[in-house]
Amino acid sequence: MSPAKDDMQRIRRLVIVGGGTAGWMAAAALSKVLRGKVAITLVESDEIGTVGVGEATIPMIQLFNRVLELDENEFLRETQGSFKLGIEFVNWGQQGSRYMHGFGRFGQDLWTAPFHQYWLKMHQAGRSGKSGPSAQAMPDLGEYAITRVAAYRNRFMPPPADVQNSPLNDIAYAFHFDASLYARYLRRHAESRGVQRIEGKVLEVALDAGNGHVQAVTLQDGQRIAGDLFIDCSGFAGLLINKALGVGFEDWTHWLPCDRAIAVPCEPVSPLTPYTRSTAHAAGWQWRIPLQHRTGNGHVFSSRHISEDEATAVLLKNLDAPALAAPRTLRFTTGMRQRAWHRNVVAMGLASGFLEPLESTSIHLIQTAIARLIDFFPSAQFHQPDIDEYNRQSRFEFERIRDFIILHYHLNQRTDSAFWTACREMAVPETLSAKLRLFKTHGRIVRDNNELFSEVAWLQVMLGQHLQPAAYHPMVDSLDEAQIADYLAGVHELIHRCADVMPDHAEYIRQHCAAPNPGAER
Ligand code: FAD
Repeated sequence: MSPAKDDMQRIRRLVIVGGGTAGWMAAAALSKVLRGKVAITLVESDEIGTVGVGEATIPMIQLFNRVLELDENEFLRETQGSFKLGIEFVNWGQQGSRYMHGFGRFGQDLWTAPFHQYWLKMHQAGRSGKSGPSAQAMPDLGEYAITRVAAYRNRFMPPPADVQNSPLNDIAYAFHFDASLYARYLRRHAESRGVQRIEGKVLEVALDAGNGHVQAVTLQDGQRIAGDLFIDCSGFAGLLINKALGVGFEDWTHWLPCDRAIAVPCEPVSPLTPYTRSTAHAAGWQWRIPLQHRTGNGHVFSSRHISEDEATAVLLKNLDAPALAAPRTLRFTTGMRQRAWHRNVVAMGLASGFLEPLESTSIHLIQTAIARLIDFFPSAQFHQPDIDEYNRQSRFEFERIRDFIILHYHLNQRTDSAFWTACREMAVPETLSAKLRLFKTHGRIVRDNNELFSEVAWLQVMLGQHLQPAAYHPMVDSLDEAQIADYLAGVHELIHRCADVMPDHAEYIRQHCAAPNPGAER
């Protein structure tokens, strides 16, 4: 291709509409990879503001921060952040029960079957983790994972670079942070790489009469911003993808009935737990996210089952310290945009869909949307096969995360409310039914085609919510019970010894990434 033709096909102007977490993540990442070859403009409206409650993440965010070359300690200082080793679920399977969905793997690999299969054999045989006469109750599966053990002991450190072949190398972690501060921090990085920020409210969107592409947005003050490619990060409004291009929304409320959240921050408490907590209530659940300067809390609920006033009262009654602000209501519809990419508009963040924050996946979905756009970055021709593949991958990712979230609701044995009965009795998507059928026979879980949640993640929720398979993997019988018991006891001891050397979470933060003035940024 001649240089002149090549130049004609290039995207030259990229416009991002929206400056929430999605907008600034996109601006920071794309300004880094496009290296000034594409002019990037971001429009945001101070008057409209952002959702600003996304506070918990999953470990893949480390990759995003690494691509941006962010210093981890600086990032945590700037965002009042803390570390996250998993999510504790309270009252989900039954009232009074609890389990941890921790990051990272269990135990150590042994021969042919996954670790949990050896544990299952012993568990089903009612045997202890020790051979011989000193039989005790079988430790919970979580006792064989460094992240779960460390989380319950409020300990944290990243995997040490100078230690090999140790459970310490298996420490997988994410972060809790203040999403508004994260967006502000990323804005600095994006602007230093040439992103132009324009404050103003978009009032009009001009479409090309020929191909229907978005040509430009016009602000309240009359300013017109033209572009070749637009990223719609305008939040639930879906200003470009929905209002201008008319791409509809696929509603999943029949599977995930929660449609509101009341959010309120409260004073931080000690100990600073290195995990998120999700506590189920009669018609929804409550998040608890510990940051350096405050604890974030919210009650996600179904407005068909409980009023806003009742939901607020439940939330306030279950705070572990005085509230720092008035409760705020957020309304949402769970589901996804029928196509995230249409013509020359790619929707990201809340404009592309919403899955409730039960497994902290929204910020991750922004990250993968950006990565996918980089993979399928268009020329000015916008080839439809590329767009179709982008949309196919995006749908696959959303649907598989949806299934995992439905699993939490569906697998419940609560008898205290119509909400939980309805969740238990509802028909679930066939993709989820297939996973449940497979697990129920021999405890097998298959991760399909790079879906986000691993076998270990599914396993923890299934066992944690009292779904027991009928039998274990038959290959496990190649070892007798005494051999397995000794093996399990060895792993258990090693993991607990490793947790002993880990520092206290709050102490680790004090030494490495304490925010300068925790009181100032509430
Ligand atoms: P927004 O934050 O809504 O930003 C929209 C932007 O568009 C704003 O800058 C606004 O000014 C701009 N805009 C809109 N209209 C116009 C206009 N006409 N002109 C100009 N600008 C405009 N995610 C997680 O990963 N972890 C969590 O723990 C988590 N918790 C959540 C809890 C709740 C209750 C909710 C609702 C969401 C949660 N999320 C969580 C999701 C997370 O908050 C969002 O995914 C994330 O903040 C991205 O939002 P956004 O940038 O798409 O939209």
